[in-house]
Amino acid sequence: MKRTGRSVLALLGAFTLSLGLAGGAGVVDPAPAAADSCYTWGETLSQGDSGSDVRELQVRVAGWAAYGDPVDIDGIYGPETASAVERFQRGYGLAVDGIAGPETYGQIYELQDADCTPAHFAFSEFTSNDGSGFSGGNTSTSNVRTNVLRNMWKLEALRHKLGDRPLYVSSGFRSVSHNDAVGGAPNSKHTYGTAADLTGAPSLCDIAREARSSGFNGIIGPGAAGHNDHTHLDTRSGRYWNAPNCF
Ligand SMILES: [Zn+2]
Repeated sequence: MKRTGRSVLALLGAFTLSLGLAGGAGVVDPAPAAADSCYTWGETLSQGDSGSDVRELQVRVAGWAAYGDPVDIDGIYGPETASAVERFQRGYGLAVDGIAGPETYGQIYELQDADCTPAHFAFSEFTSNDGSGFSGGNTSTSNVRTNVLRNMWKLEALRHKLGDRPLYVSSGFRSVSHNDAVGGAPNSKHTYGTAADLTGAPSLCDIAREARSSGFNGIIGPGAAGHNDHTHLDTRSGRYWNAPNCF
């Protein structure tokens, strides 16, 4: 949980910049609703587009996945990405067309902080509980940050779908030594920053159930050994869902 502030002057400056860059080839895209110091999209994206703009969009809509089918962060705007954009638009009360344009970007800018984290989560919530930050894991500090950021956007979507009630991260990234100390599984997803243990106002089962359509292929919750006081969510390639008291 965190509150977010933002500088109106910074927004105005970036907005003016985006207006100044519009046009040139006889085609003037609608100006973004607001720009953002983290990342600004300069043009409307839809199916058939590809590249880094699409990849950045996919990170931010990945929590609006289909049931059991995480959105690939591959920079290719296919039907899966379009469907995720539609769910994002529906989720925030926007016009639903599966096309990422000014209104969609405006909503993302509203959610996005200057360090690219979503409004209700911060990197500090995911650092190793032994004080080692994002270091000492099974991958580089920079990979951990990337993994944590991607999970945060999924959690932002999950939180919104659960009625905007707080979710708390009891354990995010773990250094290998901290993971060993708390009895984590060898090579745990926590040591890569791809896992988060959650508690919160929604029940642990509500979290586990909704996570199935929020891009989490790893779900371990109530009824699974050692998981009656939190729900573990992670991003992995194959599906592992184990929450027998929930579903
Ligand atoms: Zn866990």
